[in-house]
Amino acid sequence: MSKVRAWVMLEPGKMEMQSFDLPKIAEDCALLKVDACGICGSDLHAFRGRMKTAPFPLIPGHEFIGTIVEVGKLANQKMAIVGKETISPGDRVAIAPSSLTCGRCWYCLHMPHRPTLCTSRSIYGFNSIKNPPSIWGGFSEYIYLHPRTWVFPLPADLPLERAVLAEPMATGLRAVERAYNPGEAFVGHGYGVGSRAMVLGAGPVGLMVILALRFSGAKLIIVQDLIESRLEMAKGMGADLAIRA
Ligand SMILES: [Zn+2]
Ligand SMILES: [Zn+2]
Repeated sequence: MSKVRAWVMLEPGKMEMQSFDLPKIAEDCALLKVDACGICGSDLHAFRGRMKTAPFPLIPGHEFIGTIVEVGKLANQKMAIVGKETISPGDRVAIAPSSLTCGRCWYCLHMPHRPTLCTSRSIYGFNSIKNPPSIWGGFSEYIYLHPRTWVFPLPADLPLERAVLAEPMATGLRAVERAYNPGEAFVGHGYGVGSRAMVLGAGPVGLMVILALRFSGAKLIIVQDLIESRLEMAKGMGADLAIRA
């Protein structure tokens, strides 16, 4: 049986390479070969012991993209495939990391449109290796895709180093989307086309927010950061005014 190598975070501050059996996939599952994986702030929080809920030992990494290598014969009916009918071996895809909700908690019952609020959801990159078949994170050569996965096929001509930004880009888009209606009971209080916006911090997600703001028709985008090179990049991505402070 072939083996899969993966970095396992045993506990905060401690990682080691381990190998796992390449699993035989169930009918409604699929197997993904990881092409690239980003390192998120949350991965660092777990590594530095700042995430009390991290289910160690785990294979970190949720900002991954990969190529489908095997598809169970029922997987295309069970998985949510966005923008395409089916997936097949050879397709490069991105995944929504936390698509497996419990379906029973208060949030699942009352706010099913907000799956990330589920209190006992399982998340790629934050799932213990004790749960078979263990390979649930992007710092592995292969990832096992469960039947409730949301799959986003990527354009074939999208370069790898851009494609791997799909998950942080989704974070930036969602931040702007939420600004349209920030919990106000009255219309017109949120962000909209022609609005001005300020982005505090031009780290990777801040830069994605700037892109999303520009794309959504902001009139003026102001960005603040302490690092000059980040401010330069922010301007390249659409910020009108960069403040080093
Ligand atoms: Zn993340
Ligand atoms: Zn739930």
